[in-house]
Amino acid sequence: MNQKLAIWWMRRDLRLTDVCALQSAMEQGSVLPLFIFDTQILDKLENKRDRRVQFIHSTLTGLKERLEKDGTTLLVKHGDPGTVWRELVRELPISSVHYARDHEPYGLRRDETVRTFLKENGIAVSEVKDISVFERDEVVKDDGKPYTVYTPYMRRWRALFEPAQLAACRKPQRPEWWLTDPVPMPSMEQLGFEVTDHLGLEPSIDQGLLSNYHRTRELPGINGTSRLGVHLRFGTISVREVMCTAMELNEKFVNELIWREFYMSILYHFPHVVTRSFRPEYDSIPWRNDEAEFQAWCGGRTGYPLVDAGMRELEATGYMHNRVRMVVASFLTKHLLIDWRWGEAWFAARLLDYELSSNNGGWQWAAGSGCDAAPYFRVFNPTLQLDRFDPDLRYVRKWVPEYGTSEYPPPVVDHPQARKRAISTYQSALKGNVQRTDARAGTLF
Ligand SMILES: Cc1cc2nc3c(=O)[nH]c(=O)nc-3n(C[C@H](O)[C@H](O)[C@H](O)COP(=O)(O)OP(=O)(O)OC[C@H]3O[C@@H](n4cnc5c(N)ncnc54)[C@H](O)[C@@H]3O)c2cc1C
Repeated sequence: MNQKLAIWWMRRDLRLTDVCALQSAMEQGSVLPLFIFDTQILDKLENKRDRRVQFIHSTLTGLKERLEKDGTTLLVKHGDPGTVWRELVRELPISSVHYARDHEPYGLRRDETVRTFLKENGIAVSEVKDISVFERDEVVKDDGKPYTVYTPYMRRWRALFEPAQLAACRKPQRPEWWLTDPVPMPSMEQLGFEVTDHLGLEPSIDQGLLSNYHRTRELPGINGTSRLGVHLRFGTISVREVMCTAMELNEKFVNELIWREFYMSILYHFPHVVTRSFRPEYDSIPWRNDEAEFQAWCGGRTGYPLVDAGMRELEATGYMHNRVRMVVASFLTKHLLIDWRWGEAWFAARLLDYELSSNNGGWQWAAGSGCDAAPYFRVFNPTLQLDRFDPDLRYVRKWVPEYGTSEYPPPVVDHPQARKRAISTYQSALKGNVQRTDARAGTLF
């Protein structure tokens, strides 16, 4: 066994093939994988039946079993990363640490602290790209500034792309593992969570579905999207593998994956979006924030069946179809004039595929406050959206079985009136900034 201990710190790369941090670690020594259940993140989760925690826990359990067959283990710790690393450095002869770079503000801060600590202790640190094809400053304008509009970003992304990038770590990885006895991992109860429903853990790429993706992706009533969001979130599949298949099968699907990287770039370059509007003028909108209407939206009782179906799907499964995410987000911010941050937080607590950058981007797009956003004067008509995207009511009937009966609530607001109110509220709040807003208008309606 190579006497140099290289720790592969797993975070968003919970798999054993095509892993850049593993590749980096195996080039430096015998590899011992580590995962930290971070109390800084877990302690903020109010719902103790959180599906994401269950997903990670079940995935790690499977990985640990496989690693133990190879004579090593997966160290699973629970605590503040700074404290955990101090203990590990005392207990183990670590010579290097390898992990995939993050783009979220918390991850960046955490990694800076840990990196500094490790280096002070004479441990080499290697940060690698793994969670996206391009990251940080790799897709920027000629003058080095970040893009704030999707289409030119996408064009540049494609111009810079070379197929070799997808092959980065796809050669077989045969690490020399650090040999050690199995170490127990904390149970869900020890983490402070309850065991929740079993989730399909194995990612699969449905080639037939992807070939037709451009025809089926807008229809929530059928199985027409990849459902890979959660796997891209936690790295149970490699983005290079997904991109490779996408490029062979469907250009539209490639573009969606580029949206993901566009929003990552926005969050990295404009971290103020986490709490404020991308465009500052939108922070002056006087949200109504009616608590009872918010509760009707959360509970799927707005009297608009497509909105209600989406909110109920989210609550029951942790998933919502993209078209419906757009409709419910538009409804909350425009029809009800409720602050997009309320909706964003509701989604963040429930989505299995929750990704800060995409969720924030999607919400600010719907509210009109984001980069490349929907113009404020375009207000989705939830009834027309239903007629167009769920004409046979397959989706609505599944999630709102009482639709069409006396049990179903009347509309919480009248569409024409709510539309007028939204436009005039936005208009007066934005005043002199209206021209600028219109010029940047997206065309996704
Ligand atoms: C208000 C709102 C909130 C959203 N919140 C999230 C979120 O928290 N996490 C998240 O991954 N996506 C989010 N999205 C984007 C999109 O709805 C989901 O990625 C998609 O529905 C996931 O299902 P899928 O894997 O079947 O997607 P597919 O249609 O099969 O797309 C494949 C992958 O491409 C990426 N993708 C697709 N559409 C988008 C998009 N518009 N923006 C960014 N990436 C995209 C995702 O990684 C997705 O898994 C949000 C969209 C809106 C409008």
